[in-house]
Amino acid sequence: MKALCWFGPHDVRYETVPDPVLINPRDVILKVTSTAICGSDLHLYNGYIPSMAQGDILGHEFMGEVIELGPGVSNLERGDRVVIPFNIACGGCFSCERKQFSCCENSNPNAWMAEKMWGHAGTGAYGYSHLTGGYAGGQAEYVRVPYADVNAMKVPDGMTDEQVLFLSDILPTGYMAAEQCGIQPGDTVAVWGCGPVGQFAIGCAYLLGAERVIAIDRFPERLKMARDRGGAETIDYEAVDVGEALKELTGGLGPDRCIDAVGMEAHTPGFEGLYDKLKMTLKLESDRPSVLRHAILNCRGGGTVSVPGVYGGLVDKIPMGSVMNRSITIKTGQTHTQRYMRPLLERIMAGQIDPTFVITHRLPLEEGPGAYATFLRKQDECIKVVLKP
Ligand code: NAD
Ligand code: ZN
Ligand code: ZN
Repeated sequence: MKALCWFGPHDVRYETVPDPVLINPRDVILKVTSTAICGSDLHLYNGYIPSMAQGDILGHEFMGEVIELGPGVSNLERGDRVVIPFNIACGGCFSCERKQFSCCENSNPNAWMAEKMWGHAGTGAYGYSHLTGGYAGGQAEYVRVPYADVNAMKVPDGMTDEQVLFLSDILPTGYMAAEQCGIQPGDTVAVWGCGPVGQFAIGCAYLLGAERVIAIDRFPERLKMARDRGGAETIDYEAVDVGEALKELTGGLGPDRCIDAVGMEAHTPGFEGLYDKLKMTLKLESDRPSVLRHAILNCRGGGTVSVPGVYGGLVDKIPMGSVMNRSITIKTGQTHTQRYMRPLLERIMAGQIDPTFVITHRLPLEEGPGAYATFLRKQDECIKVVLKP
């Protein structure tokens, strides 16, 4: 089959690779019908996630048609259209029973690697390094889905791929980002990053009762989408001082809830940016956490900082004094996707959410290598790429 494979930083290739086969009784094989490139894939593309190997198949946002089933899968049939969450959950362990699916203890066969870095391991995930299990991803013609009986969600007839594809990751991620803010009536929510995750966080913050959302980025087309589609007020962080602007907009208090939808590769002008670059070069820091710092420092006392943005390892100069002395709550996590897929599907069916608005590029899978470069550089006003095998 054909697939997008990682060969090194900024080197993704459209390659011929072996077809996946059933390994365990609860596996299914999918014929992929749609897949997308995520902001998280850019961390792999830029070479910031350790333990990638040459030839690894990328992709964790995908859906398709069931073509083969293991004997342990009784709730699916050949021909079913399904969407798959990016993180793999067994459904039966301590964490899965508590619906903390992204902490599943059974799905990461390389847990020992993750334990060395993170103390305890996280879940397995598709196409996302050997630290998360080394699973082949779904930017491919076919993919093996483990524990398919608890992960694959059937798509109702009449819904298009584009309506449901983002249930695999970014829509639940935007929702969980807003949900863990604990939004109260009257709240103002500030969202750093107007990528697809930020766009969905804006919409979900309003769904969950925010009175105002203020979105921060520097790309005009992303800020425009946040205003026109999300109903947010916007701040261009290259044009004004974000801290001053937020104070002005909130009567000096600061936003009640702050969402970091940027993560480990924040773009940071000025001295702070140079500081993080230097520390990363010297291997004294693995991530550039400027947005996390700003979200903390700008949040009102007693407020909440929610972090859907991905961090990989060790960060520096996190203002813990501000967190402690001003009673800031920080909530974060790889999304417990399985928890949100069905309720969000229902909201899509009810017309409360239309996730298709973020899509700017629709391309055949073979154009994936170019699409990675376009998405990385935000060229051609690229916000979200959907690929068709
Ligand atoms: P993206 O690259 O499209 O968007 C990131 C945005 O952040 C860009 O628009 C960029 O201009 C903006 N940005 C960079 N520096 C900034 C700064 N200093 N201030 C304000 N904005 C800044 O990516 P995306 O797909 O929207 O993903 C966003 C983040 O969410 C990534 O870190 C991704 O890995 C993460 N993510 C997490 C989960 C999860 O399970 N928690 C799931 C999906 C994605
Ligand atoms: Zn993702
Ligand atoms: Zn589990």
